[in-house]
Amino acid sequence: MSSSPPSTTRRPARVAIVGSGPSGFYAAAALCKQDRIPVEVDFYDRLPTPYGLVRGGVAPDHQNIKGVIRVYEKLARGDRVRFFGNVAIGRDLAIDELARHYDQIVIATGNESHRRMGIPGEDLRGVYSATEFVGWYNGHPDYRDREFSLETARRVAVVGNGNVAMDVTRVLAKRAVRLASTDIASYALDALGRSAVTEVHVLGRRGPAEAAFTAKEVKEIGSLEDADLVVDPKDAALDSESERWIAEHGTPGARRNVEYLLEKSREAPRGLERQVHFRFLVSPIEFLGDHGTLEAVRLERNELHLDSSGTPRPRGTGQTWVEPFQLALTAVGYRGLPIPGCPFDERAGILPNLAGRVRGADGAPLAGLYAVGWAKRGPTGLIGDNVADAEETVRHMLDDLERGIVMPRPGAPSPPAADGDDGASIQRLLEARRVRWVTFEDWTRLDALEIERGKERGKIREKFSSVAEMLAALARPAK
Ligand code: NAP
Repeated sequence: MSSSPPSTTRRPARVAIVGSGPSGFYAAAALCKQDRIPVEVDFYDRLPTPYGLVRGGVAPDHQNIKGVIRVYEKLARGDRVRFFGNVAIGRDLAIDELARHYDQIVIATGNESHRRMGIPGEDLRGVYSATEFVGWYNGHPDYRDREFSLETARRVAVVGNGNVAMDVTRVLAKRAVRLASTDIASYALDALGRSAVTEVHVLGRRGPAEAAFTAKEVKEIGSLEDADLVVDPKDAALDSESERWIAEHGTPGARRNVEYLLEKSREAPRGLERQVHFRFLVSPIEFLGDHGTLEAVRLERNELHLDSSGTPRPRGTGQTWVEPFQLALTAVGYRGLPIPGCPFDERAGILPNLAGRVRGADGAPLAGLYAVGWAKRGPTGLIGDNVADAEETVRHMLDDLERGIVMPRPGAPSPPAADGDDGASIQRLLEARRVRWVTFEDWTRLDALEIERGKERGKIREKFSSVAEMLAALARPAK
């Protein structure tokens, strides 16, 4: 561990943030707005584009949520922040190499994978994670080549009761024309335009009182112009465990969900062309299909029991049946992926940490390594929740800087670092490796091109959905 503060009048402290989604940007904001220690921030993102889930996750019909980008943009244009897009840590640069150029590294990579259900048939064609579907309609380069058999799927099962389940349900239940002017990928818009889907069944393993979705999201489904929200009164009614639980522990949001679903269960459907069925206390236990393709789902009725903390949990009753479904999207949560060279808690799918300080195998904090957002706490909370989360980590980072705790640099005199490093050495290293990094200026050009391409199609934006396309566009002379 080094022992003298790196930030002197000679140079500011140098921080690398790996990942440029909301949590990374809120960490940069907290670092830039404080006046304890001068800091310079470099973002690294494996994609040429910034903003993480705001670009690749937020649904195209929720443009208002994407307004946060304006704040991130202002920060990224500041003279203390640089963007290195198209640079993957663990592929183009090892974390140890990064460590030689920075006093501190913040992992802000979110949760790039999804939880599996762990039931038979999950790998059939026709069974996908909602993460893949979301990435696909949002033009994410990892998912653009996926196919979702929309032309042949009439009944779709959406498993899970979170806000991701609400997003994919809305996209499936809306007529494609309603999404036509958004930034949805055109290939997805075309495929949704050919969709045969008439019924979406949202399957909650617990009851309406325990649902994770927010009241705003469920009400949006209930107000769709192309689909009726159908709730069986038996499903909307609470069992005695939930009645007691919601009275004693229920949040106002959970109460609003219960009231709204009860109200909906009493309404007659409007007879619209599509139906969204909210069903509770039901779990898929097997995906069934011939020739590798989903045809049906075996379902089981659940009941609730209280665990040792008094929380209602689902338990199968043994009552099972089979229903036809041609597409199933599992929206049962995201999961983090390990970063080569960084500790990883396999069970929780996050970096093991204490309030943002990443811990080593012995449980002690590793000097100079931090985590924010979903990489720190797992896949919970809304975008805004990352503000306080990042501020907590940054407080510890500044405390550590003041105490001279920075990245150890094996084999180098202490602290060498970034001393005398004007920030150009990392660029020289990337150049030597022939890594074509994308600067924020480059991204600004891509952004303008996407908006221009969108205008031609009557959309607010037509995204580039492959890295090769993005680099080719940047290689063409600017008009
Ligand atoms: P989530 O809110 O954690 O919901 C996951 C859902 O999956 C829960 O209903 C959970 O049920 C269920 N589940 C887990 N394992 C299951 C299993 N084996 N079988 C059946 N159901 C299972 O996660 P998310 O929807 O992925 O969202 C992640 C975060 O992003 C959330 O904080 C969410 O609010 C946020 N988000 C917000 C928006 C928005 O603001 N519009 C949009 C998208 C996402 P249990 O409760 O029984 O565990």
